[in-house]
Formats: sequence, structure tokens, C-alpha cells
Amino acid sequence: MSRYWSDIVQQLVPYVPGEQPAIARPIKLNTNENPYPPSPRVVAAIAAELGETGDSLRRYPDPLSRRLRETVAAQVGLKPEQVFAGNGSDEVLAHVFQALLKHDKPLRFPDISYSFYPTYARLYGVQHEVVPLADDFSIRADDYLGDAGGVLFPNPNAPTGHALPMAEVARIVAANPSSVVVVDEAYVDFGAESAIALIDRYPNLLVVHTTSKSRSLAGMRVGFAFGHAALIEALNRVKDSFNSYPLDRLAQAAAQAAYEDDAYFRTTCARVVASRVRLTQALQALGFEVVPSMANFVFARHPVHDAATLAARLKEQAIFVRHFKLARIDQHLRITVGTDDECDAFLNALRGLLK
Ligand SMILES: *Cc1c(COP(=O)(O)O)cnc(C)c1O
Repeated sequence: MSRYWSDIVQQLVPYVPGEQPAIARPIKLNTNENPYPPSPRVVAAIAAELGETGDSLRRYPDPLSRRLRETVAAQVGLKPEQVFAGNGSDEVLAHVFQALLKHDKPLRFPDISYSFYPTYARLYGVQHEVVPLADDFSIRADDYLGDAGGVLFPNPNAPTGHALPMAEVARIVAANPSSVVVVDEAYVDFGAESAIALIDRYPNLLVVHTTSKSRSLAGMRVGFAFGHAALIEALNRVKDSFNSYPLDRLAQAAAQAAYEDDAYFRTTCARVVASRVRLTQALQALGFEVVPSMANFVFARHPVHDAATLAARLKEQAIFVRHFKLARIDQHLRITVGTDDECDAFLNALRGLLK
């Protein structure tokens, strides 16, 4: 605290990201990063952008990330004016809160979901209503039908991994014609269906993507929003009132190359999905209940062993998983799907702790 702080800063409860340990070779299964490096084309594109001397860095980057947006738009079957690019999807979401979700009626989002949402709601003064998930951690579409200031949920949900079928997403979007429905698809590439296919039918639908998980670019900070051109224009108005150049040159080049190498993307996603199945079965064999996951993590609880204790014991062995000290889920662990070797190291340590 300091008397120099503004009122809003005094009251902020910042989001706490998963730990980025400073030790040499951690088994890092706590922040849903991809266990595989980005496409070799990404590395080549960064080198090409940099050149021998780095001369291009003298110049500001394209404020609108035009080439990147054209590439991504073509990939997902939209027009470039239906695509917004931001400095990580967290920043995209921040602009969404300010541009599209702040209204007289409360924004609705699930009680168990991405814990950045309540942080942004407080930061931007967006009134909100948290809606409990069903007991099996599924989102009940019936709870989101009509008369909200906006609706926001991840699909698949985080930290549960549960995916809502597309027909249910469409039902929510159709029932909220006077407010924006935001579907945060950070994990959609690991097996769920994308709501992007609904965009041309619904002017109130906004879909948010990131390169941080399925494209192995968490370190570059590139995220997108897809929707009707009028929604994208609102985001650009906020962007140009905040930071005109959210994506640096290397990030634009890297993300573009990642989208151009579709074969590599499909291969690594398929590997993660195969490892998720294997990890799920191994955890079940150890007595864990595992929520069916369509993401690159699993959400699991042991009927006997305390989750916080397990996470702390694993950390002593340089194995990091995520535990949330929150109502309803404080006996769960969220475990990112690593390589099979990383998963095996985690499972072996776990076997030792359960003895
Ligand atoms: C990881 C994550 C994000 C943030 O992604 P960045 O693009 O790295 O900022 C957004 N939403 C959900 C649900 C996530 O899990």
C-alpha cells in the first residue's frame, strides 16, 4: 500500500499466474504450455524478420498486423475485418471487457472458469454474476438464456477441460440477441468444436483464440478475436486508445509462420491428445477421478489424498502442477499434458507419494 496509489489500485486483487520456476529442468505441468517447440518455420521467420543486422527493428511494426490477420482469416474461413489481433489473448479479453461487456445489466460467467475474468471485471468496473457449473462441472446452457449484459465462458472450460457441444453454444448465442456472447477457445484445438462456424449467422458472437497453447507460442504473446466486423471495430477503437502497436515485428512474423505450417500444428496437437488419453488412464488406475478433458490438461481429484499436499510434495521434486485454493475445486489438481516422458516422471513421483 502507498498513499500514491489510486483508489482502483488499492482495491485491485490481481490475477496470479502459475509459477515460472527459475530452476534448471523443472517438469512443468502447471501453465498449459505446449510441450513441443513451435514449427521450424517460426524460427526461420523470426530470423528472416531480424535479418543480419536487425535493421527492421528500427521501424514500428504494422499497427494492424495486416498480413497476419489475412493469413489467419483465410485459415479459419473469415474476412480480415472479422479478425482482431492482440498481445496475447489476455489483452484481447481485456479490450473485450471494456469495449463490449460493460453495460447496465451484469455480465454472466461460470463460477469455475478462467480466474482472470473476475480480475478484469473488477479492473474495468464491469458488474457481473457468477453462475454455478453443474455438479459434473458442465456449463448448463439453460442458465445463460437471455437478459444479461454479456456472457463469457471458455470452451473447453478451464480449469475443468469440459467441452460444451456446439448446439448448446448456439442456443446461448441465439438466446442473447441484445448482448455479446464471448467464447474463449484457448484450448479448442485439442479436440473440441469451434464456434467460429457460427459467426456469419450471429452478429453478437465473439470467439477468442490464442497461439499460446496449441501453437507453442506462449512466449510471443499473440491472441485473436473473431466476430462480426462491428465487434472487431469496437476492439480496434479500444486498442487505438491504449497501444497502437500491440504486436511487435517478431511476434507478427512468428504467428504468421505458425498458421502457415498447418501440418506441424496438426501433428503436435494429435500428440498432445494421445498423451492426454494415456495420462487420464494412468491417473484413473491410481484411483483419481478425472474430468473428461478436451484440452491440453486434465483436472483430477483423489478420493483420499489432499490436493494441496500432493502439489507441494511434487514441487519438492521439481514437478509443478496447478492447485487452486478455491471453493468446490480445492481438492483438484490441474495437470498440463506434457510429453509422455514428462507425464511418466510425474506419474512415478505420484506413485511414490500415494504409497
Ligand atoms: C491461457 C488462457 C488464456 C490466455 O492466453 P494468452 O494468449 O497466453 O494470454 C485465455 N483464456 C484461457 C481460458 C486460457 O486458459
